[in-house]
Amino acid sequence: MSAVAIGKTAPRLIIDLLDYDPRFREQRPGKNLIADAAPRFLGACPPRKLPNECRHSLMKKDLRTVAPVSNDELPDSSTKYIVPTYCSACRYHFEITMDFTQWQDNHVPCRLSDQDNPLHHLQLAESIYAGAHPDRLVPTKYDPTIEIHKFVCSSETCPLQVTIKVSAPRFSRNLMTLLEPSKLIARGVKEIQAEPLRFEGLGPVSTLQALDYLRTYLRDTKAAGDTGPKRIAKRNKKFALAYSNECDALFEYLDFTTVQDGETEGDSPQFWLPPTITSMNRELINDFLAELDVLLEARPASEKHLAKVLIHTRPLPALKDIERSLGYFEYPTRSRTVNLEAEEHPYYLSLGAVDDFTDEFLSWAYDRQCQCDPPNKPYYLDCLEDLAKGRGSSDLETKVVMATSAGEYGLKAIEGAYRFFGLDPNTKEGDEHIMGVYKSRIESAPRQKEEAKNCLLAIAKARNSEKIQALANDRTMTFEEALEFLNISSDTASDSIEAAAVAMSLEADNSKVARALRVIANHRDGDYALERAAANMELDNVGSTLDIGEAYNRLQIGARNAPDETVLAYYQSLMNDAAPGSKDSYTEALRVIACDRQSHFLLTKLDDPNAVVHAAPSTASQPIGLDNIGNTCYLNSLLQYYYTVKPIRNVVIDFQNHRMELNDEDIKKKRVGGRTVAKSEIIKAQKFVDELQHLFENLKTASTRSIKPTRELAELTLFSSAAEANFRRASISSPSGPPPNLTSMFGDPPVYGPVYGPQLPPPPSQPPPILIEDDIEMVDHPEDKNDDDSSEATLVDMETLPNYEDVFIKDATVSSRPQKNETLDGDAIMVNGDDTAKDGKPVPEKQPPLPPRNKSGLVIQTNDKDVVSDDELWKFGSQQDVTEVIGNVNFRLLCALKPTSIDMSSGEQMDIVRDTLYGANAVYLQKAETPERKVEAWSNLIVFPAPVGSRDIYETLDVVFDEQIVEIDNTTAAQHASIAKLPPILHIQIQRTAFDPVKQIASKNRNPVIFPETIYLDRYMDSQEPDSALMRRRRETWRWKAQLKVLEARQAALKNTEAEMSVADALIATKDYINVLQEEEVDGISINSDLPDLLEERTAEIVEELGVINKEIAGLKQSLTEQFTDMRQYEYKLQAVFIHRGEAGGGHYWVYIYDFENDIWREYNDEYVTEVKDRRRIFDHQGGTGGTPYYLAYVRSSDTKDLVEAICREVPEVEMTGVTDTWAGDIEAGTVGEDDENVTVRHIEHARPRPLRPKPTQGFDTVGNWENTIGDNLDANGRPW
Ligand SMILES: [Zn+2]
Ligand SMILES: [Zn+2]
Repeated sequence: MSAVAIGKTAPRLIIDLLDYDPRFREQRPGKNLIADAAPRFLGACPPRKLPNECRHSLMKKDLRTVAPVSNDELPDSSTKYIVPTYCSACRYHFEITMDFTQWQDNHVPCRLSDQDNPLHHLQLAESIYAGAHPDRLVPTKYDPTIEIHKFVCSSETCPLQVTIKVSAPRFSRNLMTLLEPSKLIARGVKEIQAEPLRFEGLGPVSTLQALDYLRTYLRDTKAAGDTGPKRIAKRNKKFALAYSNECDALFEYLDFTTVQDGETEGDSPQFWLPPTITSMNRELINDFLAELDVLLEARPASEKHLAKVLIHTRPLPALKDIERSLGYFEYPTRSRTVNLEAEEHPYYLSLGAVDDFTDEFLSWAYDRQCQCDPPNKPYYLDCLEDLAKGRGSSDLETKVVMATSAGEYGLKAIEGAYRFFGLDPNTKEGDEHIMGVYKSRIESAPRQKEEAKNCLLAIAKARNSEKIQALANDRTMTFEEALEFLNISSDTASDSIEAAAVAMSLEADNSKVARALRVIANHRDGDYALERAAANMELDNVGSTLDIGEAYNRLQIGARNAPDETVLAYYQSLMNDAAPGSKDSYTEALRVIACDRQSHFLLTKLDDPNAVVHAAPSTASQPIGLDNIGNTCYLNSLLQYYYTVKPIRNVVIDFQNHRMELNDEDIKKKRVGGRTVAKSEIIKAQKFVDELQHLFENLKTASTRSIKPTRELAELTLFSSAAEANFRRASISSPSGPPPNLTSMFGDPPVYGPVYGPQLPPPPSQPPPILIEDDIEMVDHPEDKNDDDSSEATLVDMETLPNYEDVFIKDATVSSRPQKNETLDGDAIMVNGDDTAKDGKPVPEKQPPLPPRNKSGLVIQTNDKDVVSDDELWKFGSQQDVTEVIGNVNFRLLCALKPTSIDMSSGEQMDIVRDTLYGANAVYLQKAETPERKVEAWSNLIVFPAPVGSRDIYETLDVVFDEQIVEIDNTTAAQHASIAKLPPILHIQIQRTAFDPVKQIASKNRNPVIFPETIYLDRYMDSQEPDSALMRRRRETWRWKAQLKVLEARQAALKNTEAEMSVADALIATKDYINVLQEEEVDGISINSDLPDLLEERTAEIVEELGVINKEIAGLKQSLTEQFTDMRQYEYKLQAVFIHRGEAGGGHYWVYIYDFENDIWREYNDEYVTEVKDRRRIFDHQGGTGGTPYYLAYVRSSDTKDLVEAICREVPEVEMTGVTDTWAGDIEAGTVGEDDENVTVRHIEHARPRPLRPKPTQGFDTVGNWENTIGDNLDANGRPW
């Protein structure tokens, strides 16, 4: 019997044991569920069990069991657990021994808390069968073992050895026939007829009784002490009726002996003497007793009733002891609908896993299986891929993508690759033949080269052929060969080499010339002039006539100045979804762009998608990037930013100590944003924080340069529950139906007007949207279900909110907020400046309208209610305001956390997030002599760029805080705001998108907002004294601004005429004309001779006036800038700048974050985190098509150390095992992958998916309908069975 290296996890082994019925082994040779490898699933499998096979119900033999009594009990070097069991149905015996005594110094047995070895993974060491191994295993009465299977844990640090012994029932079929009902009747009749008087009133006994007597004898025997067992007289009436002298075989088997009464020597024996229990027969007797219990229990109820046999004590199930001994009792399982009828998908068996495994365990089982059985890796990858799809698990899908990007191929992919070349996957042809097929294919169809290359790589991997791999990677040429081919020497200059190559390409094979160039380029440490020449030649080779503009169009890139990384990202996302035929055209486009830009980065990526170009290694001093998971907008920027905010990061990482408890009483008390929250919202919020915690842990410890946020996290971040519900409702509405009403879809229409609080409270009159929280399993309805569950993104402190409505809505003739049915233009009558301004109407500072959060009529279909496609996620995310999303993140954090205290006046929850990010304004409305004062909380301030020209940050903030005139009750009232509470971290949103209601499009205001690294907020602070020194200064600036407005209006009037000429210039021109007229003495025109002088005079006056105005304006501006410069108590430092490039509703996002400790600005651009050497990139904003800042984070200067920290890394010293053997683990520059000889790039494990993996051309069934198909029966080694 050959030992098979394939292993299985401990839970899998025990399930297999429960399903394995030894009685049928002979009928199904070669298939032993315990010992043999699971059959390889290729579309079908034979049934795992026959209908009448036993699913064992294992009972423990209590006395002999040695197992841990609690989950905390851990094995040590002397531990040997044993769980002897029998099946209460078929009476087979299974004895499982778990032996830890082969313990060595470095040993740590697998345990659930150990990430690397959570479960034992058992590999069969040997199987011994009685009959097959007569020299090693002969069953006897006392040791009837018929099979022994020995396993060793595959973990190098685990000493566990498991032995499973199988034996048949003690009470054999032969012996049982002695007590059949028919035999008992015949026996009884015979005895009674022989001595009718003696047996008067008695009849034959039932099987149940016969079994029961036997049980009594054996129990008495066991109970007998020093006096020894009582002998049994054969003449005993019960004995005679049940056994007579026909059952000697049974009693002899049980070690009964016959004895004579001393006086009647010579007669046949009169008594049975039960056995004395010895170590030899103890198990025999115990097992037999246990089986008697089983048999008695199984007798028909009619027999039981008649015989009045006592109910037996129930045996104890053994599973718990087995599971504890094997260390997997209560292991974490995934939640799913359990269908006991359905068999597990065979892929689980192949991975040695169990259906109920969590994704983490399944992923681990896959790794372990690959490690133990490398030749079958492709098959295991297929298993994992299909199970990932079946489970809809993004983590597992990521795992598959990572494996493929690391150069692994699934079996189906390999078969697809063979078929691409028209080859049979099982072809016996040698490598040379396959290489020949490849060469002729790319010769006849050069445009398919990229695809052919990737198919060839798959085949190379499957065959483990270096030769084929070298051909696929164009590495068949050595550096020396390349030099010789181009007839140059190793020190020839690059331009000369290029010239030589071009000359040669006229007569020689272009692709060979290109290859030679690339070999030399690589050898010269990525000489990109040569790389470019090679790429150009390859383009010539396929006859490309693509021009650069078309190339950008083909990759759907709008801005030609997009960074290389962005270009690559577009290319990769297109490649991922492209049909095989169109892939080469994308590659062609990328090559054209790479040549055009002379981009070493792109050229290298073209040569090897997994190459890391000039990459700084992942170290403890470098933050980790976040892979872009589809166009999810500012998701990555936000996640990176939150990670740098220390109080929030700490709370998230230490979430278990801050988690809100789910008891109804606390939930009832909880107030977030002025309302109670439903339990389901808290559960969802905690799920979000769990996901965030996971991400943060990875950002802290990852050894890769970037990691990937999960889709779940993306959804939970970008969607608020209410928005999501609305979105999903919109998604399932019929596309032919009426377009969804904007208001109903997204709650309140956008709000414009005075920007005191950045967000206004939800109107109480709005009916609550239906909350759909259908992906939460344990939804509980709190008794006081909230009346107002409206948009949770609207996160405003409600301390004064009821009154707010009174003041600003009920009392206002024209509300500062749009009422229902009001046009969007009719809102907010706002007057900026002093109402004494008479000259020229004061210009209302009306903010541009915001875009609606969805395009009218947009209907997106989703099939699966829980899964939103990339595209939809992006569409949705792009319609959301960043403020809304940050609001959503904050809301989720607040919901998930338990309060640190409760605000007495509002009942609002106080916690670390609130303390860190929330500020408050005091709003003064001068309706009467004394102004009304209202306090409003906010989590950020919204400012607007100027409609024309630039503004600095103070000018934008002035709009928020300066005095403005609002109309109330047909009169006007002055209103201004001050900061009542400054948060430690101040967020400022620069609202750049505006919505054109006529054109129905969103547009973006790109005008620069100038923000310095340091700002002082003293000037906006609330003093509560109307006549404080600060207020006097503020009022002074308001007056200056009013004057400034008048002067600027006058200046504009003097400077500009219809003819786009200043008044002074116009007068001078007129005077010159008149002079001409006078000199020429035109007939009929008489000119007052004083006129030129008058004109000259007037011109001089105007010039003088303009001079004065300019001077005054300059003076006022000077005063305005200097008015507060001496006030520097509330100092804030810029920490983060969020950037958007592109149009409204699309484009690219990244963030700059300042590292206070190291005085470094870094750009976090998805997976790339790079140092910004030239800070003008952050602070110079000339508008145009470059990136525009849209969100700023400032930190209180005095506490920067406590509040933010750009680098928080704990890179563990990882020893890389064979599982991740593609990662060299070496971070020295120039470390090469094993197949490279002279290349300066590294292969990294997490690299993007190799986009060119061929799709299987033949359909394989995925999880779900596999039972119905028929195929070959092969085990995981491909052996038939
Ligand atoms: Zn059984
Ligand atoms: Zn182990």
